[in-house]
Amino acid sequence: QQGDPVEAPAFLAASYACQRNTPQPGHNTLLTAALSVLAESAELNGDEGRGLAFRRSEGLLRSLDRRVQGLAELRGLPCLGDHSRRVIQDLLENGVSSEVEETKSSPRYKAMKLLTGIFGVGVKTAKRWFTEGICSLAQLETSGHSLNAAQQAGVCYYTDLNQPVSREEADAVSVMVEGVVHSVLPGARVTLAGGFRRGKMSGHDVDFLITHPDEGKEEGLIHKIIACLESRGLLLYQQNTRNTYRESAKGAGRPSSSMDRFERCFSIFKLTNDSSYTADNGTGSGGRPWRAVRVDLVVSPISQFAFALLGWTGSKLFERETRRWAVRERSMSLSSHALYDRNQERYLRASSEEEIFAHLGLEYVSPTGRNA
Ligand code: ATP
Ligand code: MN
Ligand code: MN
Repeated sequence: QQGDPVEAPAFLAASYACQRNTPQPGHNTLLTAALSVLAESAELNGDEGRGLAFRRSEGLLRSLDRRVQGLAELRGLPCLGDHSRRVIQDLLENGVSSEVEETKSSPRYKAMKLLTGIFGVGVKTAKRWFTEGICSLAQLETSGHSLNAAQQAGVCYYTDLNQPVSREEADAVSVMVEGVVHSVLPGARVTLAGGFRRGKMSGHDVDFLITHPDEGKEEGLIHKIIACLESRGLLLYQQNTRNTYRESAKGAGRPSSSMDRFERCFSIFKLTNDSSYTADNGTGSGGRPWRAVRVDLVVSPISQFAFALLGWTGSKLFERETRRWAVRERSMSLSSHALYDRNQERYLRASSEEEIFAHLGLEYVSPTGRNA
């Protein structure tokens, strides 16, 4: 290779996010934040395909090991479509992208972001409300729409739930969850998953995976955990589901669905500002001595734990890409429960994430490298 070094392809990058190491926050946050807005806007419009294309561009830029200074450095890299490259060029040349700025200030984007920011409100509901002219919480309240229990809690704790959860708060929640789990089932194991396991310093919730080394002991555990949390006054809201997963002779069920079938609980915790928890900002809105925090609790049998851990560690793009790799490159279907080899017509067992990557023919990526 010769010639101007600035003109040469500066980075080598694989096309699937699961083939790359993607630390947090990356060296191109100006670019990734902009592409994230466009991805989110497409997702809020219900345009999944377009959203995914921007997420892949964003993911690739996140994985680069240095700051991009010119478009030429991106020549030959995968995942970057014409549209993304135009946006990147604008940002590199002008410091801003007019498309991103227009998107951010559009009434539709602002309203959809606000409405989907309510716990329990998805894109479909938000769209319906926006079409009726609802753009704010005040307008929603006067609209006379009846809200379900999740949405009522979402409106009630709106401010708290839209304030990022800090690492200290996540640690405080861990202490609470471990205390409760160990008191209802000694020997059970609690593992922090989600963004905090990937090393993020803040998140929108705290995710936990719970298991027990003796298969079967975990059955029905979520109900005991909830009862104990409630008796201690730690829950503001909870919605639980039982385990409905069964292995079938035909393979891993619906591999395209990202919803799994574990026993689980989507909840809102009451995090009090006391001994175990000393962060300065430890009060909720209105100066209460506690704040509301979103917590996901998932119970997995030990035989599926490695798959559950991989599936609940994220990022969402990393998960999607791992499943896409499995199907397209290995003819396997991967879920948070199992890995099924369609050629051999059998399930491949694993007791660690490393074994799953090995089955898939992928180099192991540690949790902190999965921030695609
Ligand atoms: P944040 O900081 O915003 O919480 P996160 O990466 O932890 O970021 P989550 O939405 O909490 O995001 O999701 C964590 C992981 O759990 C993701 O990889 C996601 O795929 C998985 N996940 C979330 N909800 C479900 C669900 N209903 N069924 C299966 N997996 C899910
Ligand atoms: Mn999370
Ligand atoms: Mn979550």
